[in-house]
Amino acid sequence: MNRSTALTSLLCLTLAAAPSSARAQTRVVPPANSYTPAQDVEMGRQAAAEARKTLPLMRDDNVTSFVQNIGQRLVAAIPPGLRHSEFQYTFEVVNVKEINAFALPGGPMFVNRGMIEAAHTDGEVAGVMAHELSHVLLRHGTAQASKATKYEVGQVAGAVLGAIIGGGWGQVISQGTQFGLGTAFLRFSREYERQADIEGAQIMAQAGYDPTDMANMFKTIQKQGGSGGPQWLSDHPDPGDRSAYIAREAQSLRVVNPIRTTQEFGQVKTHLGQLAPAPSTEQATKNAGRTGNGGAGGRGMPSGRVEAPSSSYQTYTEGRLFRISVPSNWRELPGTNAVTFAPEGAYGDSNGQGIFTHGVEVGSARNESHDLQTATNELLASLAEANPGLSRPSGYDRVTIGGRQGLRAVMTNTSSTGQPENIVAFTSQLRDGSLFYAVAVAPRNEFQSYGRVFDRVIGSIQLID
Ligand SMILES: [Zn+2]
Repeated sequence: MNRSTALTSLLCLTLAAAPSSARAQTRVVPPANSYTPAQDVEMGRQAAAEARKTLPLMRDDNVTSFVQNIGQRLVAAIPPGLRHSEFQYTFEVVNVKEINAFALPGGPMFVNRGMIEAAHTDGEVAGVMAHELSHVLLRHGTAQASKATKYEVGQVAGAVLGAIIGGGWGQVISQGTQFGLGTAFLRFSREYERQADIEGAQIMAQAGYDPTDMANMFKTIQKQGGSGGPQWLSDHPDPGDRSAYIAREAQSLRVVNPIRTTQEFGQVKTHLGQLAPAPSTEQATKNAGRTGNGGAGGRGMPSGRVEAPSSSYQTYTEGRLFRISVPSNWRELPGTNAVTFAPEGAYGDSNGQGIFTHGVEVGSARNESHDLQTATNELLASLAEANPGLSRPSGYDRVTIGGRQGLRAVMTNTSSTGQPENIVAFTSQLRDGSLFYAVAVAPRNEFQSYGRVFDRVIGSIQLID
């Protein structure tokens, strides 16, 4: 069904407005948030700058104007209660094939070319964008960071970037520690997903789209499967009955003559088909993280002059999560969703990635599986992604951590300083289902002597969540 875009927009805005105010829509209440909207804007601005340096953006007007037009139409349909005057909405297209999109606090949105290529209608593209926009309007990124531990709150934008972007993106872009594990695990909760679906459905209807197209796009994404498919779904987990409640919401949002497929959409699809195929995100960003881009600098590589662990210990309490004792000459180095304890000379950074050669990183990672073994597998897979020289563990030992059941995995790695090192990872589960982990690292030739230190440090852990 081809129709003129301009004509449709006038028609539908008029028709959509009346029923949506008259009927009972689900009221979506933004979650508690300890950040200000201005902080959303600042974090989003910094994160977007990082994303633009890392990701291959399309400068092709045919494609960008199509996405921007949908974006502007959705922005015009934002309900008054969610309009933040500080926010600035931008819409950019990333030339990669994965079916994905993400939006940053305060407004910047990035839509993958793969998402447009997979969509069957304008409405499906609008559906994903309305969902992403709703995360921005409901300020889910900073709401999630507000729930975080003291190690996360108050960090600069780079540190919470992973939390905001979530999933694979966080890992590509974030400047976490070398073991920037949290980033790969932080996803929006199911409750936030449901909110973004409902709010997104309402905005779609107000903008003249059929909200059921959002559910259709989610089905399309699910069907794609394979390596490119599930990333969006893993960042935006299905609360369970997605299609059903979107359909229910759509009934209260009847849109007459919704925009489905415009001529412009057909032209964009044809145009994309004539271009060289989009690369994978991995191919496209392979060099971005390694070349350094000005953000690195910082502390530089560890000096290697490492003091032996003190025999006196100091206890650190993280208010809502854990207590731990470490040698008193180890420093506390807060990171993303984690804290590293390491001696002078044993930590530094390389291309913006924090690294440490001796010490323990302790943190938590959101996980949806609620199964310790699966969550640990995911953790180690994420660790391996950031550390190409990491061996696979031969298996897991059952251990007790902070009085709870836990797992231990022993691995070897080649550190970024080039030396062989041993790594022992411990995991357990927190009461909210997320994964607690401690990763101990020491050079292979010193591991024997560090072993007893690690035993004492790990043995001191109390989980107080
Ligand atoms: Zn989502």
